[in-house]
Amino acid sequence: MAEGNLLKMRTSIDGDTIQYQMVMKDTTINLNEFVGKPLKLTYKNQINCIACGKVTSKSFGQGFCYNCFQTAPEAEECVLRPELCRAHLGESRDQEWAESHCLIPHYVYLAVASGIKVGITRNTQIPTRWIDQGAWNAMIIAETPNRHIAGVIESYLKQHFSDKTNWRSMLKNILAEEINLLSEKNRAIDLLPKELQKYAFQEEKLWELNYPVLQFPIKPQSVTFDKEASIEGTLQGIKGQYLLFDNDRVINIRRHSGYLVEVEK
Ligand SMILES: [Zn+2]
Repeated sequence: MAEGNLLKMRTSIDGDTIQYQMVMKDTTINLNEFVGKPLKLTYKNQINCIACGKVTSKSFGQGFCYNCFQTAPEAEECVLRPELCRAHLGESRDQEWAESHCLIPHYVYLAVASGIKVGITRNTQIPTRWIDQGAWNAMIIAETPNRHIAGVIESYLKQHFSDKTNWRSMLKNILAEEINLLSEKNRAIDLLPKELQKYAFQEEKLWELNYPVLQFPIKPQSVTFDKEASIEGTLQGIKGQYLLFDNDRVINIRRHSGYLVEVEK
C-alpha cells in the first residue's frame, strides 16, 4: 500500500471522533478506515533522521541522528525543560526558530489521560498535544506570552500535580472520572505566587476527546521494531500515538519516527 519513514501521526477532530493520518512520502493513509480491519507494518531495517534525512543506525530523541540531536532547535533542552528556555533573552540554537516556537503565546493545561497531569504547549498545538498524550479530558488554566513563563508556572505546579502519563493505564482506558478539572484549575491558580496568577486563563472550557477504538487492551504489550520485524493483525483502535492491535499488542508510532516501514492491508 505504501512505504515511507514513520512520523508522528497527524490528528484532527471530525465531528465527535479524532481522525488519524499516517503521512508517508508519497501518500497519506487515513487510519480510521482500518479500525476493525487487518493492517501490517513491516520494518525495512533503516532509520532516516527526521531533520536531515541521513541514515542513522540509532534514533536519538525520537527520530534524530546524533548530530541533529545535538544541534537541531527542535531537540534543544528547552523542549523537555521549558523553564530553562532562554529564547526571551536572545539565547537559543536558532533564534528564528525560537521566535516562531518559543516566543509565542503558550498555554499551561491540566489533562486527564491516566491521572491528572500538568503540561504546557504552544497555543497552536491545542488539542493536538492532548490527543498525542491520549487525554480524554483537558482544560487550559493559564496563557503566557512565551515558553519560559509557561515553564516556570509548570514547574511550580509540578510540586502538586504529576507531569507524566502512565501509558498502560491510558491505553487500558482507565478513566479517572472523579477528577473535576474546573475545581482543580482553581486550586492550581491558588497555588501560584501572586505575580504568576495574572496569567490565569479566563475561559473555562472543558475539552472531551473521543478516540477511534473498538476494544482497549487488557494487558498492553508494547511492540518495538528494535526487536520485532513486523506487526500484523486486526487494528482494534488508535489512542494517543499508539496503534492498538488484537491480542493486546500496541505500538508507539511516535517513538519510531524516522523508521522506514512498509504498510499493507
Ligand atoms: Zn540528522
